[in-house]
Amino acid sequence: MPELPEVETTVRGLERVLLGRRIERVEARRADLRRAFPQDLGQRLTGAKVSALGRRAKYGLIHTDRDDTMVFHLGMSGSWRIDHPSLEKHDHLLIETDEGRRLTLNDPRRFGSVDLVPTRELQDWPALKALGPEPFDVTARDLRDRLGGRSAAIKLLLGDQRIIAGLGNIYVCEALYRAGIHPKRPGGSISLERLDKLVLAIRSVLQEAIDAGGSTLRDFISPDGELGYFSKTFAVYDREGRSCACGGTVRRIVQGGRSTFYCPKCQH
Ligand SMILES: [Zn+2]
Repeated sequence: MPELPEVETTVRGLERVLLGRRIERVEARRADLRRAFPQDLGQRLTGAKVSALGRRAKYGLIHTDRDDTMVFHLGMSGSWRIDHPSLEKHDHLLIETDEGRRLTLNDPRRFGSVDLVPTRELQDWPALKALGPEPFDVTARDLRDRLGGRSAAIKLLLGDQRIIAGLGNIYVCEALYRAGIHPKRPGGSISLERLDKLVLAIRSVLQEAIDAGGSTLRDFISPDGELGYFSKTFAVYDREGRSCACGGTVRRIVQGGRSTFYCPKCQH
């Protein structure tokens, strides 16, 4: 499942092909993903010039000179491919640039989405408006205010997109491990000093993954032209029963229906 680092890497890869280019052709190859493609997608994007790209939480943003922004979400299995030689069954959206580059959005499970939002209304677009601050912007004081009085487990609170945006299960587990915080600890009980460590841990686990993705972008495109996916190593995630660096054993518990991995010796 694409997490924030994959989305960030994807956006940086798309930027190399799209920034400053005019979109020459848009073809939705089915009516919908998780929801319908905008009916006027082709009409509004064809001929538009891409003026900037960005990311908010796990949404990729492609801004155009027509004051429209295409907002995409990769869902569970989405990926963009560049100049893939042939169209495949799950290539649901095709974009061609004035340089003849071809981008395809592939999404076998179709939990992703594509929307067109007037750029000046982006801040108020419901899915974005509800989001908390970006992990790279949030401060320990912010987090303290947002967690204040909350008795729910910190693991669950960090996964709440209204508290902090864009953190998925993997990076919540890894950040709590790196900050030495037990995943069941009530959110409101964590000191400012420890939240400081947590904020740094969140940033560093994400940044390391983004850097790893960036190094795969150096050759730009993997043989199949897929953007954003790269192998990563984790300290605790998906390592139940294996050794932690401290000599302890990584445990798995279930919180809110999802697996949490942690080290009982390192996290309190
Ligand atoms: Zn440990």
